[in-house]
Amino acid sequence: MVMTQLTNLSPRESKTVSPLTLITLDLDETVWPSESVLKKAEEIQFKWLQQRAPRLTASHDLDSLRAHRRLIREQYAEIAYDLTAVRTTSLRLLLKESDDSPDLAEEAIGVFLEARNWVTPYADVPPVLEKLARTYRLASLTNGNADVQCTPLKAHFHFSLTPCIAGAAKPAPDMFQQALEQAGVEPHQAVHIGDHPECDVIAAQQVGMRAVWINRREAPWPADLPPPEVIIKDFHELERWLFQQIKI
Ligand SMILES: [Mg+2]
Repeated sequence: MVMTQLTNLSPRESKTVSPLTLITLDLDETVWPSESVLKKAEEIQFKWLQQRAPRLTASHDLDSLRAHRRLIREQYAEIAYDLTAVRTTSLRLLLKESDDSPDLAEEAIGVFLEARNWVTPYADVPPVLEKLARTYRLASLTNGNADVQCTPLKAHFHFSLTPCIAGAAKPAPDMFQQALEQAGVEPHQAVHIGDHPECDVIAAQQVGMRAVWINRREAPWPADLPPPEVIIKDFHELERWLFQQIKI
């Protein structure tokens, strides 16, 4: 088993080791709130479309664009896991329908994705991630379309996986398995932290990883799922839990 030397401990404690070497983290609602960023990104993209594709925006608003994306997710099952592909396909079809150029879709998605990365991490996240990145390998596993490398947290992650890279979204095992492979660790050496009971906690446990449920909003755990092993409300609690896992 690979053991990790903890570098931020006192000399006497420096002989301690953790059985965990890889920490995978969900992004939205785990390291930053996404709701207002998503809303803002959609508004910015809509303003851009008003300039470049006025026929489309004359017959659509943010709600009808959202409704169309839902339809596309249902109709195009083969891309439903990739939210960026769903957005692009939806927009391309609507642009064509309204006699605007479908080729504007890619550029419009670029405008959306740039604003999608204007996230503000929860205050407890950056200082804890900075410390953890010195000891553990950190990877982000998101179903969303933020690009960590374009966010304030870019320095802390060793690698990042998305549905587009993995070929499947959580709760499918693909993203977790690819993270384990990329880090070169066994499932029992890894822990996943996320806010979604099924996509994060249960899915990670199903590939043999440990899982921590981050419950910032004091939501009830679904009654039909087996209870989580660990519940935390912020990253300070995560840091304490990780410290408890260290064997002296
Ligand atoms: Mg989440």
